[in-house]
Amino acid sequence: TNVSLVRSIPSGAPTVADFKVSSAPTPAKESLKDGEILVRTLYLSCDPYMRGRLSGRKDSYVASFEPGKSLSGGGVGVVEASSSAKFSAGDIVTGADFQWRTVFVAPAAGFIKVPAAGAAEPVNVLGVFGMPSFTAYVGTVVLCKIKAGETILVSAASGAVGQMVVQLAKARGARVIATAGSDDKVQFVKELGADVVFNYKTVGDYEAAIRSAAPGGFQAYFDNVGGEFLDAVLKCISPNGRIAECGMISQYNATSDTAYAIRNLSYVITSKLTIHGYIVSDYYARPAYGEFVQEVSELLKDGKIQYKIDEVVGLENGPQALLDLFEGKNFGKRVVKVTGR
Ligand code: NDP
Repeated sequence: TNVSLVRSIPSGAPTVADFKVSSAPTPAKESLKDGEILVRTLYLSCDPYMRGRLSGRKDSYVASFEPGKSLSGGGVGVVEASSSAKFSAGDIVTGADFQWRTVFVAPAAGFIKVPAAGAAEPVNVLGVFGMPSFTAYVGTVVLCKIKAGETILVSAASGAVGQMVVQLAKARGARVIATAGSDDKVQFVKELGADVVFNYKTVGDYEAAIRSAAPGGFQAYFDNVGGEFLDAVLKCISPNGRIAECGMISQYNATSDTAYAIRNLSYVITSKLTIHGYIVSDYYARPAYGEFVQEVSELLKDGKIQYKIDEVVGLENGPQALLDLFEGKNFGKRVVKVTGR
């Protein structure tokens, strides 16, 4: 099976009709060229940044998907055959450029081997040790430098990134205020240890809700949503506040006509705010990555961290699984289970 983009999507919310699921011939082991591997996909990662790749834009930090060609993104799979000294058949591999195919051939250079400990539970490579989890670490620990006695606010707190922000901040002794888009999600985020959690869809006035959740103020905001919620935060975050500007999912389907215009930007001056915009891929080559892996390994070993995976079965359901992210229909880290071990 193979999922491709039918056409480039100029504006607004994409639909499943923008994708095509088709059957593709399984590549033969004999067709491998020197340095290539044949990979069978176990899991594919659905991530909000992929919306930017459905745009046809050429100026983004990731290349746009091309109509007619397979989608690609983070994944984990098993090497079925190898013409590269780097891998042997049976190795579990991961990379950011998995094709949305059941089986595919690619140069070995784009993949790394998953260590035996991680290979036992391959979905964790996209989950608790995955890119969004590391994104949470960078924003919370490296950029906001959250510490005991401080309060951090995080939006989309039940998601792939948010659930780790909550737990990493709690592990440092901070107070955590969080938002989520349903009562079930609110309950889950409370179980992760957040001190106050509210459903932003039913709360009414954002500014009033934030002020009553954090009467003593808050020093940091981890932004996953942008738009109107960010605007309210700018107005009520404490002086010298730090913002990890991670994502603005409320704006990813917006057009120039529907994009939310921020009104409270001048609070950056009067409240002396620091906004840290960042892209996680810049941090894999820095010490932060090793520190993240070590901390999460220890928290896991001690049973002090949990990570919710939201699995959709079948590559044919991949397009809907991806589009669900923009309607909050995922609950936890969304992955597509493509084939079994
Ligand atoms: P999630 O698992 O959190 O899934 C997306 C969630 O966003 C939904 O479940 C929904 O939660 C919420 N959401 C969807 N639409 C809206 C909307 N219109 N307004 C408010 N909330 C909405 O995704 P991730 O954890 O993978 O990503 C979270 C953010 O982090 C995204 O903005 C993403 O782009 C960003 N990111 C940035 C990276 C970087 O390097 N800077 C790397 C990785 C992710 P709910 O039901 O609570 O509304």
